[in-house]
Amino acid sequence: MTVPACQVCGSTAVAPYHADAQGALYRCPACTFVFLHPIPSAEVQAGLYEAEGIGARYFPKAERKLARARGRMSKLQRLAPRGRFLDAGCNGGFMVEAARQAGFEAVGVEPDPASIAWAKEHFPANRFVVATLEQFADTARGAEMFDAVYCSEVIEHAPDANRFAAALASVMRPGAALYLTTPDIGHWRRPPLARWDAYKPPEHCLYFTPRSLTRLLRKHGLAVAERAFAWKPGIKVMARRV
Ligand SMILES: [Zn+2]
Repeated sequence: MTVPACQVCGSTAVAPYHADAQGALYRCPACTFVFLHPIPSAEVQAGLYEAEGIGARYFPKAERKLARARGRMSKLQRLAPRGRFLDAGCNGGFMVEAARQAGFEAVGVEPDPASIAWAKEHFPANRFVVATLEQFADTARGAEMFDAVYCSEVIEHAPDANRFAAALASVMRPGAALYLTTPDIGHWRRPPLARWDAYKPPEHCLYFTPRSLTRLLRKHGLAVAERAFAWKPGIKVMARRV
């Protein structure tokens, strides 16, 4: 089996990193990016969502989720005080509602139809679309531009890092702000993979460190402006569309 070049930096010196019954991870020593290979087909990935069930979603602690969303929204507003807001992978729509309450015209996209149904029912003043970010960006073709984009625990699901980052950049106006979170495989407190809740192949295909994430975003015109200190093995960054 040939292993592809690193999606982030293009190095061909990619080496085996971890393998078990769930799949095999490879790591690029040049930029620290780790990825699942082979990556499951789109059909298999779609099946993973269906396997979770199309039944009604229930979001416990909705008030607390909304309160946390308001806190994150105020951080994002330091870089993007007003305008149009997009949550790429919006789940139950908590950030979308927090953005609307903060004065934004807010849109949420999410591939899980049951989550979108819940969001529409509970936060009806917003617009919600059943789609992946990549599908949404492809359909928009530049007609949907945003001033603030939030993308939390989504990029690790993407099969193609460049396609995902390009889709993010394509819906952001020059100067627009991005708040992105994803697990940190290089974090000093990350448990062994077998016991790490973020190690989830084949749902999680891409495993970043702050360094590899910064490099990927930069390649697509997104300059990291701030990175929060994290006690837990996760990355929180704010970036600007240059
Ligand atoms: Zn690399």
